[in-house]
Amino acid sequence: MPKKVAIIGAGPAGLTAAYLLGKGGQEVMVFEKDPEYVGGISRTESYKGYHFDIGGHRFFSKSKEVEDFWTEILGDEMLERPRSSRIYYNGKFFSYPLAAFEALRKLGIIESTLCVLSYAKAKLFPVKNPTNFEDWVVNQFGRRLFNIFFKTYTEKVWGIPCKEISADWAAQRIKGLSLSSAIWNALFKPKAKSKDKVIKTLIDSFRYPKYGPGMMWETCAAKSKAMGVRIEMNCGVKDITLENGQWKVDTTCGNFEGFDYVLSSAPMREMIAHVHPKFPEHAFTSSQHLGYRDFLTVVLICKDEDAFTDNWIYIHDPSVKVGRIQNFKSWSPYMVPDPAMACYGLEYFCFEGDGLWTSSNEELIALAKKEIQKIGLTQESAVVDGYVVRQPKAYPVYDQDYKGNVEAVRDALKNYPGLYLVGRNGMHKYNNQDHSMMTAMLAAKNIIAGQELFDLWDVNEDAEYHEGGDRGERVVGRLIPEKIRN
Ligand SMILES: Cc1cc2nc3c(=O)[nH]c(=O)nc-3n(C[C@H](O)[C@H](O)[C@H](O)COP(=O)(O)OP(=O)(O)OC[C@H]3O[C@@H](n4cnc5c(N)ncnc54)[C@H](O)[C@@H]3O)c2cc1C
Repeated sequence: MPKKVAIIGAGPAGLTAAYLLGKGGQEVMVFEKDPEYVGGISRTESYKGYHFDIGGHRFFSKSKEVEDFWTEILGDEMLERPRSSRIYYNGKFFSYPLAAFEALRKLGIIESTLCVLSYAKAKLFPVKNPTNFEDWVVNQFGRRLFNIFFKTYTEKVWGIPCKEISADWAAQRIKGLSLSSAIWNALFKPKAKSKDKVIKTLIDSFRYPKYGPGMMWETCAAKSKAMGVRIEMNCGVKDITLENGQWKVDTTCGNFEGFDYVLSSAPMREMIAHVHPKFPEHAFTSSQHLGYRDFLTVVLICKDEDAFTDNWIYIHDPSVKVGRIQNFKSWSPYMVPDPAMACYGLEYFCFEGDGLWTSSNEELIALAKKEIQKIGLTQESAVVDGYVVRQPKAYPVYDQDYKGNVEAVRDALKNYPGLYLVGRNGMHKYNNQDHSMMTAMLAAKNIIAGQELFDLWDVNEDAEYHEGGDRGERVVGRLIPEKIRN
């Protein structure tokens, strides 16, 4: 008997599960609140033939299953792209990943000496058991380099002081990188054969769909539909209710029932508020304390005056509000319909409802034009058109309390058989597509097997798993030992 599965969200997690469950002969319905796009945060939006990401989405995974999944969906529509990125700070551009000697040269002899002394001090007197981002990074790089290369950008991204950000985030994103490892890499550039020793942030190529990440998820949706999966667009889930061992799903496009399983990739804070019977008080309140950071991209269509070829540039400089600039033509030449033109995405990190978020599109485009000229990447006069994309809940916030809050929800989930939280905001994990997909893969495997073979919360738990290793070298999931399966 096929199982009946409701999936909330047609992002990477939802569509991965839909495809695998459809392939496995299950009866699947996907509910997506967006009227037009699948792909969630990994969608590709289009304007006058220009295509752009919400951010810029590299396709890179340690998981062989994920890499194989991407190949199965898109085959040779996946391009292998060179990576090039820089940091802009104090009127200067620095290679990223940091080239130690170039960085020290550009900082000047006095600042460089102070950086090295401050690094030595951090090594001699490290903060014991650092729990926040600032202490963690100061231990690795010294305070002066923290102030130059981490503080302003990180605070632009998160909108809170580095002392209030959990060290988990640093450990997950920049594990293995320190001033000494950067100098080591500069001196002894690793050979191709020892690539597994190269730190992930130093990896210099990635796969990318010809027309952006949305192409992956549009094709995945089409292939899923061909296998019988039903995908309802413009259909937001309002409530889910467990009744007599089965799930009812109430949506803006009708009410559906008789589901054995619900997989939710909707933000945890929103979802938990709409589960019935209500979550126990502690878990419910904890879920409501989870925070998110929002994001908007101002797309500028410009005459291509060969200003730069990087895929993206981090803007650490505090004199402008923009946090990062994407150059979509460098991601794939197919993203721009006219080779004489370029398309840049200026990324602003914000909170829904704050001054940036509520500015009109015209104001945002004017700000972006002014800032890109100030940085020196192009002239305002080269810009011929602009477009704004707002992305609420782009980042699950790792504040000092998030771990306990997520733990409380995870604990209470045991009382809701058949309900799986999957993906990035679904599990409140700072996941890339691959880890969001892995959680969905494990849920699909459990459903097809009819038992809890895998614990979805294992994915990405160990930072090494996230950052270390080579493309496609690992398998997804660790079997739960038989004696502790329920
Ligand atoms: C700026 C930025 C850059 C990134 N760069 C990369 C990168 O280079 N490489 C990479 O691999 N990853 C990258 N990521 C991460 C990637 O975008 C996410 O990991 C991935 O999209 C998460 O997939 P998901 O399915 O879990 O969630 P989402 O993408 O958030 O999809 C969830 C879906 O659920 C829908 N939904 C929500 N609530 C409801 C509801 N109540 N009813 C119905 N539908 C609902 C949403 O509309 C959405 O379509 C980046 C993210 C950001 C913000």
